[in-house]
Amino acid sequence: MGPLEGKVALITGASAPQGIGRAIAERLAQDGAAVVVTDREGLCRIDGQDRRTPDLLDELARAVESRGGRALAVKLDVTRPEEIAACLDQTQAAFGAVDILVNNAGSLAGSDNFLSTTPGQWQASFEVNLLGPMMLTQAVIPLMQRQGGGRIVNIGSTGSLGAEAGFGAYTTMKHGLTGLSKTIAAEFGVDGILCNTVCPGFIATDMHNAANLRLAGENSIPVEEMKRRRYANVALRDAGLPADVANAVAYLAGPQANYVTGINLPVTGGVPCGI
Ligand code: NAP
Repeated sequence: MGPLEGKVALITGASAPQGIGRAIAERLAQDGAAVVVTDREGLCRIDGQDRRTPDLLDELARAVESRGGRALAVKLDVTRPEEIAACLDQTQAAFGAVDILVNNAGSLAGSDNFLSTTPGQWQASFEVNLLGPMMLTQAVIPLMQRQGGGRIVNIGSTGSLGAEAGFGAYTTMKHGLTGLSKTIAAEFGVDGILCNTVCPGFIATDMHNAANLRLAGENSIPVEEMKRRRYANVALRDAGLPADVANAVAYLAGPQANYVTGINLPVTGGVPCGI
C-alpha cells in the first residue's frame, strides 16, 4: 500500500509525454493516489505528428489504470473559470474529493527581452502562470476545508527565486506564485491545508528544449553550445528529468511532509545565482 492510498490528486498541464505534469501524475498514482489528469485542449507535436491533448490525457489515464491505479482525464484550461467548475464537478462525481492539487500548468509564451515585451504578452503570461493557479486554488480550498485538510503544490521555477535574462514575464509570474503559496500556507494552515512551491531548474522537457533553441538562435550559436553555457552554472552540469521534480512533489504531497508548509523546494542540480 502506497503512502497516498485513498487520496485524490488533481494535476494541471499533464498531457505532454515528456512533461513534468505527466511525470507527477504517474508518480502520485504509483504512490496510491487516484489521479485527475488535466490539460487545456490543443495540439502537442510528437515525433513530427500533431496529437490532440485530450487523446494524450486519455492514454495517460488508461496507462495508470493498466497498472491498477485510478485515473480520470478532464479538459481544463486554468484561465477559464467555467472549466475549473466543470472539472471539479467531474472530479467530485468520480472520486468524491480533492486531497492534493498540483498547479503544474505553465508557459514560457510571452517571455522575451524586457524592452520587447508587450502588455499583451505580459497579460497572457500572468493568466496562465499566476491567475489560473490562483483561481483553481480558490475553488479547491473550500473542498479541502470540508474534508479537513489537503496539500497544494505549486510548480514554480528557479525563475521564482532568481532571474535569467530574457524571461521577464515568466520570471515575474513565477515569483508571484511563491507569494501565492506562502499566502495559502499562512492563511489555511489552520484548516490543515499545506502549500509549498517546487522550483525546478533546467528540466529536459519540450518547454526547456524550445527555450534552448530560442536562445541558441538569438545568440547565433549551436544549441549544444547554448546548453553548455546554460548548464555551466549547474553544479551537476546537466539538465534534470521530469521524474526528479515528481519525486519532490510526492514528498510534499505525502505524510513525510506533514510539518512542511510555505517553503520553496529547489530541484536544480545545484544552481548558484544567488538563490
Ligand atoms: P510543458 O510540457 O509545456 O507542460 C506545460 C503544460 O501546461 C502543457 O501541456 C501546456 O499546454 C499546459 N498549459 C499551458 N497553458 C495552459 C492553460 N491555460 N491551462 C492548462 N494547461 C496549460 O512544460 P514542462 O516543462 O513540463 O513544465 C511544467 C511546469 O514546470 C511549468 O509550470 C513550468 O513553468 C515549470 N518549469 C519547467 C522547467 C523546465 O526546465 N522544463 C523549469 C522550471 C519550471 P500547451 O502545450 O497547450 O501550452
